[in-house]
Parts: sequence; structure tokens; C-alpha cells
Amino acid sequence: MEIVNDNSCSWINDLKPRTNIKALFNDEECDWLIIGAGYTGLSAARKLGQLHPTSKIILIDAQIAGEGASGRNSGYLVDTTLNDGFTSNKELSNYKKKTDIYKLGIDAVKKFIKEYQVDCDWNESGKYFASSCAVDKKILLNFANTLTKLDFEYSLFNRDDLKKKLGTSFYNLALYTKGGVLLHPGKLVRAMIDALPNNIDLYENSQLLEWKKNSNNIYCKFKNNKICTKKIIFCTNGFLKSLGLKTNYNFPLTLTASMTRPLTDLEFKSIGQPNEWGVLPIKPMGATIRMTSDKRILIRNTAEVHNPFEMTENELKKRSINQKVGIKKRFPSLPNNIIQSSWSGVVSRTRNSSQIFEKIDENIFIAGCYNGSGIGVGTLFGEQMAIKASNGHTKEIDSIELQNKPTWLPPQPFLGIGVKFRLFYERLRAKSEI
Ligand SMILES: Cc1cc2nc3c(=O)[nH]c(=O)nc-3n(C[C@H](O)[C@H](O)[C@H](O)COP(=O)(O)OP(=O)(O)OC[C@H]3O[C@@H](n4cnc5c(N)ncnc54)[C@H](O)[C@@H]3O)c2cc1C
Repeated sequence: MEIVNDNSCSWINDLKPRTNIKALFNDEECDWLIIGAGYTGLSAARKLGQLHPTSKIILIDAQIAGEGASGRNSGYLVDTTLNDGFTSNKELSNYKKKTDIYKLGIDAVKKFIKEYQVDCDWNESGKYFASSCAVDKKILLNFANTLTKLDFEYSLFNRDDLKKKLGTSFYNLALYTKGGVLLHPGKLVRAMIDALPNNIDLYENSQLLEWKKNSNNIYCKFKNNKICTKKIIFCTNGFLKSLGLKTNYNFPLTLTASMTRPLTDLEFKSIGQPNEWGVLPIKPMGATIRMTSDKRILIRNTAEVHNPFEMTENELKKRSINQKVGIKKRFPSLPNNIIQSSWSGVVSRTRNSSQIFEKIDENIFIAGCYNGSGIGVGTLFGEQMAIKASNGHTKEIDSIELQNKPTWLPPQPFLGIGVKFRLFYERLRAKSEI
């Protein structure tokens, strides 16, 4: 099946359209082939280009580079996560290992934007884990306890504080963490495309259909052409499973989001003119909601098992209505029809929220499955996978490889039934927070 994207993501539409787009039009041979040009693939390509200035390196994507999940996420570069999956992070040492990786991810993005002087609306504003339900206090206090033990700075806020800070009386309680950054995901990924070294050949709108290894080469089949490569790095995240990769360890989930037009001065005044902020839900299926620096409201309140290759316009419309309700609940004084665009994106999940960073065969490598932390961790994993695949070694690779490995998932139809049931249950639990 062909990957078909909607063209309605505000973050992507904020950018100037690119003009230098090339599809694969010949058969090629190369030393390195990277499949997928999101944060992971672009970071891998940038690093490989630096490490191997004379090698032939191809980066290829089924869509326009950066226009998958990387250009259409909510823009939270996270230092901590509360609902990181459907298993809880009870064990402190595991949680610490996870936050160590988040920190390395933030450092990798920071280094990139400093080196290339990137403007991606970077704001070290921290983030809120908020809920309208007073009973969620217990979860927040447990989380606060974990953060104290690991020396993270945080504050607890009540309804009145939150009304002032967020401009909505919807939330009753929140835990604010000082760490974590809000950014414009489209600007960040575009900067990574612009920063590709000259020795990278980027091909777009060219989907890998099949691949196989034969002695020392890997043969890749596209619609009209073929590529034969010595080494390959798969950076296709939500589409790993459809390429037959780690099929019993990851599965795709489709998320949808909507963004309003900028609020007028009057509308903004009516909600108290808050500074830019980002709220994450306390329950996994609650809404992620952001006020951007240019007074737009972003909401993401769905995560579902759906055909990852396409969401039709009608299906998207239905989800957009859900998001309109989510905004109205929080900002009843704002007009009804302020959503400017809605879009979907695909991510990859593992059962225990662990990431994949692996050599699966001689000269075949995979990086992916970031479970909502892909901005930082994808950037980190891309760079570090390029080093690992070049037989290099870093302390970052040591930290990544210290993480728990993804656990086994049952085959279909059991997986589908299990995931759907779990999502349904989580949606019920988070009903008030959608
Ligand atoms: C709505 C939404 C909100 C999110 N919010 C956040 C957030 O706030 N913070 C955060 O850190 N993360 C968030 N995420 C997750 C984050 O976007 C991903 O983890 C991240 O983009 C992963 O980057 P990637 O490069 O590995 O994968 P992607 O960006 O998905 O890139 C993979 C690329 O591979 C290409 N590809 C797939 N199959 C093939 C094929 N057969 N042939 C060629 N190319 C192929 C795709 O076209 C795609 O461009 C969110 C995701 C979504 C959808």
C-alpha cells in the first residue's frame, strides 16, 4: 500500500514549500542507504555524511522528507514523561535510565540547533501534567515523589494558579516540571533537511516496497527502480512493521491533532493573555494541549489502531469534531469554529515502552519506537546509529544499550484485540480529559 498523507498540518503549512524535491528515477548502487527521512533518518544521514565524506550515501522517503510524524507532532521535547505507555514506570532505576536517554536527546537537539543556528521557536517553558479530576492527585503525588528522588525540579498547582497560567478553569490540579522544551516541529525537521551534507543524495516520494539480503548486498525494490546497498539503516518508525521489521515487538498507532487559527487580541485578552504553555494529560488517553507563542491552540486527543497508510478526509473530519469539543470544554468563551487544520500521523509503540536500537543482521540496522519522545530520542538515536553502524563507540551508545529491550507481542489477531481493548479501557478512564 502507498503511504498517503493529508496536506493539512499547520506546522508544515507554516513553512515555505521546498522546491528541490527529487524522486528516485534510476537504479542506484550505494555504500549506505537510509530509509525514512524524519528526525531519525535525517540525523543518521547528517552523521554518516560527516563520518564518510567519500562514500555514496542515499536517504530516501516514501513522502516528502520530514512530513511524516516528525513534521506533524505536538512539539514537546520532553525530559520526563508520566504516562509513558501502558505499563507503569514503577521501578525507579528503570525510570532513571529512561530520563537519562531523554536528557541525551535534549542535548542532541540543543547541539544541533546551536551548531546550525536553527530558529525553531525554542522555548524552555517546562510543561504541566494536568487533570480536571481531583482524584488524580494521588498519581501526581506519586510522580512528585519519583521526581524528588531523581532531583527534577517541579511545582504543584491548584485550579486558581492554573486559571492564571493557562487561561482555562478546566484543570483542577497539575504538576509542573521546569525541564522540557516546546518547539515548532516543522521548523526543526526542515532545518535538518537544510543541514544535510552535500554528499547525501535525498530522494523523496519513493517508497521502499520490498527488500532482501543476498550475501554482501541488500537489494531494495521501489516502484520503478532498485537500489543495491552495502549497509542499510531503517528509520521508518510507524512503518517498521509493514516492512517486516521486528514485527513481534512493535505496532503502529495513528494520532490526530488540530490547531486553531491565531486568537484575536480580544479573544486572547478574554482568556487572560497567558504565556506559551504545554499540558500533557495525567491519564494516557487524555488530551495533549498547547498554547503556542503566536496564540494558536493545538490539541491532540486521539491515539488509535488505524490503517497507518491513510486516513480519509471524512475520518479526519470526525476526529476534528472531537477536538473542537476538547477546545470548547477548556475555553468556552472562544468562538466555535476556530480550528484551522486537522491532521494525522503515525507512531510506533512497543509493549513496555522501550525503544528499538539494534543491529538485526550483518549491515542491517534499525532505530525507532520512541513512544512520544521522538523529537529528542529520534535525533539522538539517528546520530548514534550512524556511529554504531560505522563500528564506532560512544558513551551515548552505552546508555542507549543499557535500556530494557522491547518485550514480545502476540501475533494477530490477538495483538489487535488486546490493543483495541486496552485503548478502549484507557479512553473510558480518561473520558473527562479528552
Ligand atoms: C500527532 C503527533 C503528536 C506527537 N507529539 C510528540 C511530541 O510532542 N513530542 C515527541 O517527542 N514526539 C511526539 N510524537 C512522536 C514523534 O513525532 C515521533 O516519535 C518522531 O517523529 C519519530 O521520528 P522518526 O524519524 O523516527 O519517524 P517519522 O517522522 O515517522 O519518519 C519516518 C519516515 O519514514 C518514511 N517511510 C515509512 N515507510 C517507508 C518506506 N517503505 N519507504 C520509504 N520511506 C518510508 C515515512 O514517510 C516517514 O517520513 C508525536 C507524533 C504524532 C503523530
